[in-house]
Amino acid sequence: MPLTANDPTRKSWIDIPSHSHFPIQNIPFGVFLTRDDIITIGTRIGDYAIDLGALHQLGYFKGIDLTDDIFLQDTLNDFISDGRKTWRLVRNRISDIFLEDNPVLRDHAEHRKQVLFTMNEIEMQLPVTVYDYTDFYASKEHATNVGSLFRDPENALLPNWLHIPIGYHGRCSSIIPSGTPVRRPVGQSKPGEDGVPGFGPSKLLDFELEMAFITTDANNLGQRVKIDEAEDYIFGLVLFNDWSARDLQAWEYVPLGPFLGKNFASTISPWIVTLDALEPFRTSGPEQIPTPLPYLQQGSNMNIDIKLQVGIQPENAEETIVSRSNFKYMYWSMAQQLTHHTVNGCNVRSGDMMGSGTISGPTKDSYGSMLELSWRGQNPITLKDGSQRKFINDHDTVIMRAYCEKDGLRLGFGKCTGKILPARE
Ligand code: MN
Repeated sequence: MPLTANDPTRKSWIDIPSHSHFPIQNIPFGVFLTRDDIITIGTRIGDYAIDLGALHQLGYFKGIDLTDDIFLQDTLNDFISDGRKTWRLVRNRISDIFLEDNPVLRDHAEHRKQVLFTMNEIEMQLPVTVYDYTDFYASKEHATNVGSLFRDPENALLPNWLHIPIGYHGRCSSIIPSGTPVRRPVGQSKPGEDGVPGFGPSKLLDFELEMAFITTDANNLGQRVKIDEAEDYIFGLVLFNDWSARDLQAWEYVPLGPFLGKNFASTISPWIVTLDALEPFRTSGPEQIPTPLPYLQQGSNMNIDIKLQVGIQPENAEETIVSRSNFKYMYWSMAQQLTHHTVNGCNVRSGDMMGSGTISGPTKDSYGSMLELSWRGQNPITLKDGSQRKFINDHDTVIMRAYCEKDGLRLGFGKCTGKILPARE
């Protein structure tokens, strides 16, 4: 099916501010609360949120096989279950409705009033109910940096890393939408010389710059997804801050890996940008040496060029950008991650979320965590207000942004933000 919605020459009758992440070529999916306190599935063009539930009731999706209540829900899980053919039909139709020379909705004031909301009239919610969340560790630069800091610079990458997309199962209950404040976690840390573990608010609170993909139902238990088909099951991506308490993590992670140092909060951006919308921004990934096992071998253009940045904004002060990275640095692609995830027969369902792992680039200003940027506190970062950071302070807001840009077309994810509140002791 042609992705007519991706046509870069398309223009909308909705005004798109310059540098907007939401031109008519994006058409992301999200869930929001309207001014009348009604929850609905929607999309966004420019600075307008569009109520898809209302559009459907008014007959704008005629001819597409959709249940009457598919958009009148508080999650996208059922729509995502409908599969890629339906996602494409709906996204193409939305694009057509808002095309500059299509008068049907453009010239219907009554319908426009029911369907369009300014962004300050709505409140974004979590777009899906995540029943399972997996976090990978797929950036070679990040794995090398962390291996050097936590273990041994000579053997920073463990022997399995170049053969397996390494991952662990995360916690879903604490996944929160952008803008939700995050309470500094309390926990244990490594014992000092007296052998007694420390206990109290984390002193080494960090962000992790990640992307995450949302899947549809991919396989039944016991079946596996082949690499050539893996992307058919990826609905779209969000920007993802996998908050981490490094002191809790360093004490607890042996032998079973991440636990309370990770599961106190994970923030996602609220609009799911479809894999279809990102198609024009495909690019090659890092060369994979040694060649992965056959079940993980993928064709070319495995990666996507998504510019990423992280800012820290202290209370009542200006934001400082502390990192600029790119999703294309990922060593293991999303298709490789999903294929590997199911190779043992593990079933993947609609709304499952797979984090990429921290996305660090090759240069020091492209590292995706404070752990790496400050090299575990050895090189503090100076912010615009003159204050220094080794990790994240109380009342700091961490702001992540992600967008693609090519031939004058910019399309992105908006922001993924979270403000740190002091610990409750
Ligand atoms: Mn992570």
